[in-house]
Amino acid sequence: MPTVYLVIPCYNEEEVLPETVKRLTKKLQTMQAAGLADEASRMLLVDDGSKDRTWALIEQFSKENARVAGLKLAHNRGHQNALLAGLMEARQHADCAISLDADLQDDVEVLDEFVTKYQEGCDVVYGVRKKRETDTAFKRSTAQGFYKVMRILGVEVVYNHADYRLMSRRALDALSEYREVNLFLRGIVPLIGFRSDYVYYDRHERFAGESKYPLKKMISFALDGITSFSVKPLKIISRLGIIVSVLSVFGLIYALISYFTGNAVAGWTATVSSIWLLGGIQLLCIGVVGGYIGKIYSEVKARPRYCIEEKAGDLRGISSQNDLCEK
Ligand code: UDP
Ligand code: MG
Repeated sequence: MPTVYLVIPCYNEEEVLPETVKRLTKKLQTMQAAGLADEASRMLLVDDGSKDRTWALIEQFSKENARVAGLKLAHNRGHQNALLAGLMEARQHADCAISLDADLQDDVEVLDEFVTKYQEGCDVVYGVRKKRETDTAFKRSTAQGFYKVMRILGVEVVYNHADYRLMSRRALDALSEYREVNLFLRGIVPLIGFRSDYVYYDRHERFAGESKYPLKKMISFALDGITSFSVKPLKIISRLGIIVSVLSVFGLIYALISYFTGNAVAGWTATVSSIWLLGGIQLLCIGVVGGYIGKIYSEVKARPRYCIEEKAGDLRGISSQNDLCEK
């Protein structure tokens, strides 16, 4: 039986925590009975610098309930960072970790399916929402637009997958090699690779408390995702520069014709053609500079260049768990 850790970031969640802990304790017990999670399986509650009694509750639960473990971040670092902190802790104790939200909006009944897929040999299992009925029309359309933009910009993301996913210890080890500060886990996990599968679930309403993701945070999260994974916006500038430069040649011809046929006011020809030509050249130059900045950006992130999934044949004396990924 695998040791399963449920990693749960919590930010000001005092209203939902008692119920969440109750439900997940029960769930872990039934999973143990079904041979899906052993005795050492836990829920790891990560307090993301909450301002309410969240940490006090976590401490209290961890004393009363052996299934509860806690981690307290010194400051509010945001959902993604809190999640990473939890996953990196879980990596040291568990065979696999499943990340989910404190409000249990993601259906916990499918946890069994996650672990079954893990036992079948998957290293990453993505939870994918079936429908988005419980969301407002606004959230639904913005979220879907976001996935489309990401695809157009060449970022590999799983459609309708939030952060409900299982990762094996091996996948977590690989994740630990990604040292970027602007964390967008949904983009990084598909980059890691390994065998993966999907689990489909329904999303419920939050049963207490309110969303900790206001529109402002959502927008900055989306922008983070785009700018951390794609340098296409920079390339678009270059392309625009080329287009404007080409257009300016036609503009120049038009201006010259107007000049020679006497349809132009004095000074107009020179002004109009220089604006176009210079504008085009400037955009192109910015694009070229941007290209180099894009390169610097990806170098600075120091992501691992590849990750070994398996080895075959006689390679004794070389391999160890820690050199899974190579910089
Ligand atoms: N969260 C966090 N830090 C933050 C904001 C949110 O750890 O700064 C956690 C929160 O406690 C919850 C999860 O992230 O467990 C998702 O937040 P929420 O349910 O409010 O988002 P929504 O479901 O509305 O998108
Ligand atoms: Mg929620």
